[in-house]
Amino acid sequence: ERRVTVVGGGLAGSEAAWQLARAGVPVTLREMKPGRRSPAHHLDGLAELVCSNSLRSDNPDNAVGLLHEELRRLGSLVLAAADATRVPAGDALAVDRVRFSAAVTERLTAHPLVRVAHEEVTALPEGPAPTVIATGPLTGDALAEAIAEACGGRLHFYDAIAPIVAADSIDPAIAYAKSRYDKGGGADYLNLPFDEPQYRAFVAALLAGEKVAPHAFEEPSYFEGCLPIEVMAERGPDVLAYGPMKPVGLEDPRTGRRPFAVAQLRREDEAGTAYNLVGFQTRLTWPAQRRIFRELMPGLARAEFVRMGQIHRNTFIEAPRLLAPDLSHRERPHLFFAGQITGVEGYVESTACGLLAARAVLDRLAGRPFRPPPPATALGALHRHLTGAAHPPETPYQPTNVVFALFPPLEGRHRGKAARKQAHAARARQELATWLA
Ligand code: FAD
Repeated sequence: ERRVTVVGGGLAGSEAAWQLARAGVPVTLREMKPGRRSPAHHLDGLAELVCSNSLRSDNPDNAVGLLHEELRRLGSLVLAAADATRVPAGDALAVDRVRFSAAVTERLTAHPLVRVAHEEVTALPEGPAPTVIATGPLTGDALAEAIAEACGGRLHFYDAIAPIVAADSIDPAIAYAKSRYDKGGGADYLNLPFDEPQYRAFVAALLAGEKVAPHAFEEPSYFEGCLPIEVMAERGPDVLAYGPMKPVGLEDPRTGRRPFAVAQLRREDEAGTAYNLVGFQTRLTWPAQRRIFRELMPGLARAEFVRMGQIHRNTFIEAPRLLAPDLSHRERPHLFFAGQITGVEGYVESTACGLLAARAVLDRLAGRPFRPPPPATALGALHRHLTGAAHPPETPYQPTNVVFALFPPLEGRHRGKAARKQAHAARARQELATWLA
């Protein structure tokens, strides 16, 4: 029998099961609720939205809105259920979460090829029949351990996310390009110099700033290697200056002098449209981050943040190393991974990843080579992230939402942000149409 197992009936698993079934493949969807739940899950149904009820902007001039459009064109169950249970929220696609989960549950359980088994999976299923693992950011402990083993330990339990800043919003009169001791990759780093009073004011603001309280299930025991900046600041007034803000080897080429402290930004994408504030993972609230970073970091007065810093429990694997381009495990190819556990971030991104994994399984079953989505589509941008193609080599793998920085650079000149977004959307539509044809 060609029956495929999908483990986890969240956003990714529900979408994957649907795409397989509608293509004529029988599926068993194994979901541990309601017998067992993660601390964030409360409803009994499938595809539960654990926090916000919003699938973010529905405007295709945003990368996530473009992803909505692509998912609709590919017959997504999650998007169809969202459209059917939509509640007014400006240009965002927000839903009634109870009706949304019920809609997904009804469509799946009514499908003759879908069998839903309510049971916790504690070991990785053996092959050769394909299994899609879509157990999400709060994967059950026993299975998480089995996955960690299958992944040679390359499984992360926390996100410690540093903010990302749009390159063209960094003040070029203040920031300077330089790698530490000029060791390679000079163009890959920008530095923001602090004098001592600026540094002291910054540390004081970190201590005073409002922080996000950890969830009950997020024991605040951080890995020493990725402490939040405010925790480092609490340990002593100079700890940051000897840690992530260390200025040695980073003399300002314009003055030849070494600043008191430095914030380093690392190029985030091939085209250099976005920079990551290295080591600045933080639990400061987003408004506090915006205020403190803009007001007290030299060069960031007009910063536009592509992503804010955050730290939360998140089980994810190092997809670019562990997975083949078709999202199957390189060493155990009957195992496919989908959703947030692959290192995509967000409801819509997880859904999209479920859809891609299902298409890859269908190609495998049909004996065809996997046809990845075209790189300039929103689906393709996510796929570029999952395969590592969207990031410079050696960049540590961190989960991300879909953003235009993951897309290949645009060709030609596009004046202004609005024009660039529209150019992205137009190119994506063209590529998707060709792919579907
Ligand atoms: P999930 O939707 O979590 O689905 C995984 C499913 O697998 C669950 O139903 C779970 O019960 C089941 N499962 C787990 N382990 C097992 C097992 N061993 N056996 C059987 N079943 C199992 N994203 C946003 O876009 N907006 C937000 O507001 C948002 N808030 C979040 C808040 C929290 C607290 C967390 C943890 C994440 C949040 N996310 C948010 C991130 C993420 O997009 C969602 O978690 C999203 O639901 C991920 O989709 P998924 O399908 O990968 O996992």
